[in-house]
Amino acid sequence: MDCIFCKIIKGEIPAAKIYEDNNFLAFLDISPVNKGHTLVVPKEHYENLMETPDELVRDLWVVVKKVALAVKKTVKADGLNFCANNGQAAGQIIFHTHIHVIPRFTSDHFKNWPNQKYNNGEIEKVAEEIGKKLKN
Ligand code: 5GP
Ligand code: ZN
Repeated sequence: MDCIFCKIIKGEIPAAKIYEDNNFLAFLDISPVNKGHTLVVPKEHYENLMETPDELVRDLWVVVKKVALAVKKTVKADGLNFCANNGQAAGQIIFHTHIHVIPRFTSDHFKNWPNQKYNNGEIEKVAEEIGKKLKN
């Protein structure tokens, strides 16, 4: 597999590893938003979170929580963002499932997302449409 995270998992390219078990690896992001920014990945290759089997997704988030507690404590973060970019349009650049654990500080003043507004009655319609898909 010609995937950079698979290569890190196999030890073919170096990474600042912070946690490893049978199924998961966590290492520092090479271009951090803030120092301590960590990526948690399943060792098995899936393109993104949506392609990853449910059981692995469940376990992945347990590892994310464990790693996040250690990251927060270490860098004395005031908060954390957990982020999973899915698809090119969402900014995904490495197509191997990963969760970003991003330490945040009150002093960093980063703004995460721009905001939009719904038109009158639109929020109910969107909720209904999404809800229908979940019943199928
Ligand atoms: P995404 O696919 O969610 O947009 O982001 C992938 C992340 O992987 C980026 O934040 C990027 O800095 C990080 N990254 C890309 N290549 C490497 C690498 O070779 N080593 C490490 N440690 N991180 C990487
Ligand atoms: Zn991979």
